Amino acid sequence: MFKTFYPDLNYESAYDIDYAFFKRAGFENIIFDIDNTLVPHGAPADERAVKLIKSLHDEGFKVLFLSNNKEPRVKSFADLVESLYVYKAGKPSKKGFIRALDALNGTVLNTMFVGDQLFTDIWGAKSFGLLSILVGKIDKKEEIQIVLKRILEKPIIHSYKKNIRKMGFPVVLTGFMGAGKTTVAKELAALLTIPYIDLDKKIEESEGRSIPDIFKTEGEEYFREKEYEMLKKYSEGKFIIATGGGVVTNEKSVKILKSLKSVYYLNSDFDILFERIRGDGNRPLSQDYESTKARFLSRENLYLCTSKKHVNCNGKSVSDIAREILRRMHEDTGC
Ligand SMILES: [Mg+2]
Repeated sequence: MFKTFYPDLNYESAYDIDYAFFKRAGFENIIFDIDNTLVPHGAPADERAVKLIKSLHDEGFKVLFLSNNKEPRVKSFADLVESLYVYKAGKPSKKGFIRALDALNGTVLNTMFVGDQLFTDIWGAKSFGLLSILVGKIDKKEEIQIVLKRILEKPIIHSYKKNIRKMGFPVVLTGFMGAGKTTVAKELAALLTIPYIDLDKKIEESEGRSIPDIFKTEGEEYFREKEYEMLKKYSEGKFIIATGGGVVTNEKSVKILKSLKSVYYLNSDFDILFERIRGDGNRPLSQDYESTKARFLSRENLYLCTSKKHVNCNGKSVSDIAREILRRMHEDTGC
């Protein structure tokens, strides 16, 4: 029964979504809820919202705001970011969504929806046939009727998360530097149309500096803590996650990895890995052959005991490895 209300995907915030991924997957239009999805209830578009919508326009998306609120609220928000809008949409009813697709000249196949409420936003978008993305609310303080809805949402979200785990998500790729974690994650994400999360890249984005910089100024321990926080953030979602090679050296991250069903260790011979990684300035911990090999050997056991699946990657292409993981996921979950 709860399944009717499950979103297709769930992010902590509308600002965390990798919109470029959806563009590559063929989406042209984005319909957003406004209140508590992009800004607190009733607030005008702030700097962050303006920046996001501008970047979406720059990427070629058409944006429309679909709100159950009255016209002055919705129009002033949409005008500020030069986007389309539909007010008094009556979500979850179909009529608002029909007006939205008309205005966008879009179809259910090339339009995605982002909103913060299950019974209006997600149920409406999903039953209309749109890709539905649930995001965490911006503001913790809400009106009483919304607070009541949140209480009803809770068991559904719990059941949704349980279902995601049952389906084997997130899929996490571990392994030494150069193992191909990011490229395989990208390939898997494209095959499944599920976003991939590159933990290193997410940390660089949130810190506003490069990993070598973080290592140099803050030290490895600080970086591992950030890495743990990022892993935790995405560990309950329907994502493909590429980890950094050292994620297994942090106890808290190890605990998360051990709790997950689909952790795949991409395993290759050291000499193959070293060929790939030497001379790459973005890899702060790779120096000479001997010390890198010593690190590889000391970590091998950690990779083995933190992952439920091992993939021997020697001599296999990225596409071979991605397809092998897919096959094993199907075998595991039957879906
Ligand atoms: Mg809302």
